[in-house]
Order: sequence, then C-alpha cells, then structure tokens
Amino acid sequence: MAAATDPRWRGGWWRGARRIRSPHHNARPPGAVIDLVVVHSISLPPGEYGGPWITDLFLGRLDCGAHPAFGPLRGLRVSAHFVVRRDGRILQFVDTSRRAWHAGASRWRGRPDCNSRSIGVELEGLEGLCFAPAQYAALARLLRALAQRHPVRDVAGHEHVAPGRKRDPGAGFDWGRLARLLGRPRPWVHGDRGPAWRRPGPHR
Ligand SMILES: [Zn+2]
Repeated sequence: MAAATDPRWRGGWWRGARRIRSPHHNARPPGAVIDLVVVHSISLPPGEYGGPWITDLFLGRLDCGAHPAFGPLRGLRVSAHFVVRRDGRILQFVDTSRRAWHAGASRWRGRPDCNSRSIGVELEGLEGLCFAPAQYAALARLLRALAQRHPVRDVAGHEHVAPGRKRDPGAGFDWGRLARLLGRPRPWVHGDRGPAWRRPGPHR
C-alpha cells in the first residue's frame, strides 16, 4: 500500500480523475479493510451516453421529470466512488476512505454489506451490451492506482455480489480483456467463467 504522500493521491482522491463531490456517502465501519472493487454499469437514460444525468443522480439533483425512465429514481440516494465515461474519462464522486452507496444488499466471501469495504466503479454502459476500449484501458489504470492505495484483493461485478438481484455489468463486459490489460493471466478479477482469484501476498 502506498504511503499517504503518494503523489497520485490526495487523501482518498485520485489525481487521475476529475473530482465532483457527491453528498451521498458515510463513514466506513471502524477497522474496515478496503479489499474489494465492485464494477457496475449505468447509463441514463438507459442506453444513452454522454449526458449529465449520471452526475446529477450522484449529486442528488436529478430532474426526475426530465425523462420517463427517471421516475423510479425519485428520492434515490446513491453514489459510486468512480464513473468511467465511454471515452475513458474518469470522474470521482466519493473519497475512497468513505463508504459510497452503490452495492446495496450484497455479499462477498461470506460477508454482507459490500459497500462498507469496497470501492464502487460505474462504467457508463448498458448491462449486457459491450463497453468501449477506452473504458477498459481507463479501468485498468484506475485499478492499478487503487491497488497502490488500498489492499484490494478482488474485483467483482455487481452481479457477483448481488446475484439474482443485479445483472450489471453483465455478459457484455469482457473480464478476460481486463485481465490481459492488467498483465496477468487471471488477475484479481472475478468474471463469470472461473473461480474467484485471491491475490497472494502480504495483503491477505
Ligand atoms: Zn450496479
């Protein structure tokens, strides 16, 4: 884990991302170890990219009358630490030392409440469809940076930590491609085709 003086980080804010502070976060439980990254997909309206709506949702200012698909989002208070746009730009909404509200009811390695110990990363996209090459490159860059700062042991999809309830990022997300970009045959990513990989080393 990097020291607090790591120039790539300012506290829990990564310099590789544009900072947009969401009010949707709270303290992690005392002693929480941040060892999981949960990958999601989101697009607002569904299947449309590039608009301001994801940011508005995470800032709690989404105009729910702006589109019929936004109605069910009324009153929803959610966030993720990071959003990766289709062109690979990365936005950060929540300090990684804080608990963002992205996974909901969830469980990983027998432990509930993934929000308390995870980093949430939203890829702009629609579950089941493909993601842009620039997003894989950006995600790999982000994951390397996160692993420098936190003892990340697993990267899993929302669909893996909330099976039956959530399906993102879905079959269109290529876990093998992410693994190759990270330079490992099966790095600390958990896809739908194999067992979870446990990162060896001092962070166990
Ligand atoms: Zn999700």
